[in-house]
Amino acid sequence: MAHCNKVTDRIDILGGGPAGSAAALAALREGARVRVIEKSRFPRHKVCGEFFSPEIAPELEQLGAWDAFLAAGPARVCRTALHFGGHSKITTKSSRLPDPAFGLSRYAFDLLLLDLAGAAGAEVSSETQESPLIVATGRSAKPTQRGQRLFGFKAHFEGPVDDAVELFFFDRCYVGVSCIEGGKTNVCGLAPESFLSRFGFEYDSIVTHSPALADRLQPLQRVTQWFSTGPLQYGQAFANAGDAYLAGDALSFVDPFTGSGLLAAVRSGAMAGKAAAIGQPVAEYLRDCRASLRQPFQVAGVLRRALEGGWAERLAPLAPSHLLFALTRPK
Ligand SMILES: Cc1cc2nc3c(=O)[nH]c(=O)nc-3n(C[C@H](O)[C@H](O)[C@H](O)COP(=O)(O)OP(=O)(O)OC[C@H]3O[C@@H](n4cnc5c(N)ncnc54)[C@H](O)[C@@H]3O)c2cc1C
Repeated sequence: MAHCNKVTDRIDILGGGPAGSAAALAALREGARVRVIEKSRFPRHKVCGEFFSPEIAPELEQLGAWDAFLAAGPARVCRTALHFGGHSKITTKSSRLPDPAFGLSRYAFDLLLLDLAGAAGAEVSSETQESPLIVATGRSAKPTQRGQRLFGFKAHFEGPVDDAVELFFFDRCYVGVSCIEGGKTNVCGLAPESFLSRFGFEYDSIVTHSPALADRLQPLQRVTQWFSTGPLQYGQAFANAGDAYLAGDALSFVDPFTGSGLLAAVRSGAMAGKAAAIGQPVAEYLRDCRASLRQPFQVAGVLRRALEGGWAERLAPLAPSHLLFALTRPK
């Protein structure tokens, strides 16, 4: 590999989410000086399904963050259940995960990773930086037509816990229900603005619109407010940003129903941190990212078209769930 020899004096990382903190930890491991610039005050809630794919374990282990992750008490998620259909016949596909996945709130996880980076020697600051070497600022969206835009929402609930991550697909929306630390359950959905506005953005009414989802939530009580985010846009996949290393959602935003965004963020963050520290050319870094992360994007694109075209319900019984899960993981 044609690495340039220049070792950067200090690596500035814009964004202290999972990608930015992973970048910091990886760069520190290469002996670099690091500064992380984060505009928000942590801990803070973040709209996310809070589902961590099983492959997160070796990624966090390599960064020296696995023990802290386990100490935060993540829930074990052992099964998936996908429910297709709103008021008509519900088709359900269930399967066991090949290895346990994890549920941990972003409130806990993002703080944990940024604190580890700070403890390992990163300077953490809220000052702005015009030309950071690593950009890990999360997803961005171009202006889109009102009504067509997608928004995400989430809240935490208490009540009986279950070891399945369940996804309910209805009316061009989907809502995930999955356990997290402390016996809580995270409920997180994504829906077009036109659908949300029919309910006046009242999320309690939205999640009870699907009878199957209403049944699932019936024994649970909401213990946080609803948080929302948007508009969401897929597609800024592996763009070249000149001399900067883009990581996480800033590099590519995969459809959340794959549950692989956090894994991709931690992995690309670690790759960016190492690349910046050893002076690997940005073009080579991008090539490595594409090879590692492209598959979930391609498969998610096909699945999204199936959902929007209304043929996912008919195809669902034909596609083995373990294959769908495997195809939406980074390599
Ligand atoms: C509705 C929804 C559900 C999801 N569910 C899941 C799931 O269950 N599992 C999964 O694996 N993935 C999920 N994802 C995807 C996951 O949330 C992202 O892939 C992940 O957050 C990306 O991490 P990141 O560090 O790249 O970006 P972010 O988590 O967005 O972090 C970026 C950080 O940069 C900071 N920042 C931004 N701009 C600046 C600036 N100018 N200066 C300083 N700081 C700045 C922000 O404050 C933020 O802390 C979901 C996404 C959505 C929208």
